[in-house]
Amino acid sequence: MRLLLIEDEMELANALATTLGKQGIVIDHTRLLGDALELIRQNDYDAILLDRRLPDGEGLNFIPNLRGMGRDTPIIVLTARNEPLERIEGLNLGADDYLGKPFLTEELLARLRAVLRRPVTIVEQQITAGRMVIDPLHLTVSVNSAPLEIPRRELLVLVALAKRKDKTVGRPTLEAAVYNYEEEIQSNALDAHISRLRKRLSDAAAGVSIHNIRGVGYLLREEG
Ligand code: CA
Repeated sequence: MRLLLIEDEMELANALATTLGKQGIVIDHTRLLGDALELIRQNDYDAILLDRRLPDGEGLNFIPNLRGMGRDTPIIVLTARNEPLERIEGLNLGADDYLGKPFLTEELLARLRAVLRRPVTIVEQQITAGRMVIDPLHLTVSVNSAPLEIPRRELLVLVALAKRKDKTVGRPTLEAAVYNYEEEIQSNALDAHISRLRKRLSDAAAGVSIHNIRGVGYLLREEG
């Protein structure tokens, strides 16, 4: 499968190219709408991932141009602007789906599978740690098979830590997992999420603990 990614945040673009590459998905990346049209003329893409705020314009304005070329390539809009009215605006202009940043790769893959209306091979691995099982695709957590409700940002921190169980995860990685790239991060916000997460995991007897690695980041470990 081949995708066109129109995105000016290089960190996000590189991360997507790496993670989707592991799923056998080829990504052509550009940060400009002007270059995107040329790429679309030359290639046959299975889907287009489109950011909104781009250096040479608003991503949504690109959709009518593309449809005007007679291309019905599915488009998933990636954006921080994920308010209902803006979603409606995007869908009315011909986008097939709308994904609010930040998002997990698993969620993007699930939406790709939906818009392509055909099977997309996805490595969907549940994460097990202690008595906890995390489903990163549906963003659910259970402890001893009982669902555990965790707010989204805390859950994204937990997934980032649990994926790298027993390894120190740096603050920038954790912050990138939770915050949008355009969003200003409050210096103590991550620590506050971790603190609430620790209490939830302890209350639920999840059998894992989160350790602070001073000056570096955090580490999730199964309790012995
Ligand atoms: Ca942007």
